Amino acid sequence: MLRLPPFRFLQPETAREAALLLAEHGAEAMAVAGGTDLYPNLKRRQFEPKVLVSLRALPDTRGIGVNGGLRLGAMTTLAEVERHPEVLRRWPAVARAAGLVSSPPLRNAGTIGGNLCVDTRCTYYNQTEFWRASIGYCMKKDGTICLVAPGSDKCWALSSSDTAPVMIALEATATLVGPEGERRIPVAALYGRDGIAYLAKRPEEILTDVHVPDRTGWETTYRKLRRRGSIDFPIVGVAAAVRRDAGGVVEDARIVLGAVHTHPVEAVDAQEFLKGRRLEPETIDMAAGIAYKPARPLDNADLSYAWRKRMVRIEVARALRGLAGLPTGDLPPVVA
Ligand SMILES: Cc1cc2nc3c(=O)[nH]c(=O)nc-3n(C[C@H](O)[C@H](O)[C@H](O)COP(=O)(O)OP(=O)(O)OC[C@H]3O[C@@H](n4cnc5c(N)ncnc54)[C@H](O)[C@@H]3O)c2cc1C
Ligand code: SF4
Repeated sequence: MLRLPPFRFLQPETAREAALLLAEHGAEAMAVAGGTDLYPNLKRRQFEPKVLVSLRALPDTRGIGVNGGLRLGAMTTLAEVERHPEVLRRWPAVARAAGLVSSPPLRNAGTIGGNLCVDTRCTYYNQTEFWRASIGYCMKKDGTICLVAPGSDKCWALSSSDTAPVMIALEATATLVGPEGERRIPVAALYGRDGIAYLAKRPEEILTDVHVPDRTGWETTYRKLRRRGSIDFPIVGVAAAVRRDAGGVVEDARIVLGAVHTHPVEAVDAQEFLKGRRLEPETIDMAAGIAYKPARPLDNADLSYAWRKRMVRIEVARALRGLAGLPTGDLPPVVA
């Protein structure tokens, strides 16, 4: 049986106090929210913090507020997000992405803040310490080279959050609290460009709130590809949002890809291509053909990377077809 390593467990009562504790203990400390990702990772010694700073007791970081836009306290569970009537009605892609994370028990404990900050993933890294030792480790933990791309000086572990692509597609912002105060940044700016330093926020900053703007007039969706219909992380995620005029012409479009790079990827060229066009089958196929190009899956997740790359194109087309009210041609879950 894998066991947790020993650590000190601190339970601050404000976000600023939590940030101060993280700053004081530096690289030896980590924040923990629901612990659904962090605790298994600790058991596999992917992290070895001496201090855990729990976010459970922070006031005002739990709950859902609707007032024009949507405010999600970072400690709100995914189950609360997926079931909230106003989120379901006005931000259905947010509810859908939250509801597609893992399985019900993990969504009851896992938080929206933890989901946005969740560690990047790689076949050579999400393994026990024994397994990783047997192959000589990799640079994300304990080693010196990347086993997927040995010539690379950066880690290519995949951003695997289900909600991050949706939040970026909806242009959500995040409140971060540090020792000196708070700041608000686009969720898109939360992510770095390396599988190790995958968050661009300062290590001591606590994510306290996520704010999603009013998206009245937009049609939004999230599609997730995974081997099984539950539990599995995405191997492709597609968030899509379009705003069309009364004649059906696209005024604005947002397409964000998940699980195909070290960070969520905005398909900028496809977004531009769609503007001024109608969501007709040929246009959708062309947009999908543009959208999948920035995806960079490597051989470090479930199923072959070449197939995953091809599936980005298909999943983008299905997402846009769904928004257009066209048949999506869905197949049963992949079994081999
Ligand atoms: C079997 C299994 C399947 C899973 N499947 C999926 C899946 O399909 N899709 C998916 O997206 N995830 C999946 N996960 C990962 C995880 O369950 C979710 O991402 C969950 O939302 C993480 O939230 P948490 O509160 O448990 O985060 P934690 O595990 O507590 O923390 C995760 C990371 O975020 C940091 N963190 C947490 N909250 C904050 C905050 N407020 N401010 C700053 N840093 C913070 C922590 O320091 C840690 O580094 C799975 C995990 C398991 C074990
Ligand atoms: S991408 Fe390379 S460095 Fe990063 S976790 Fe995988 S093998 Fe390790």
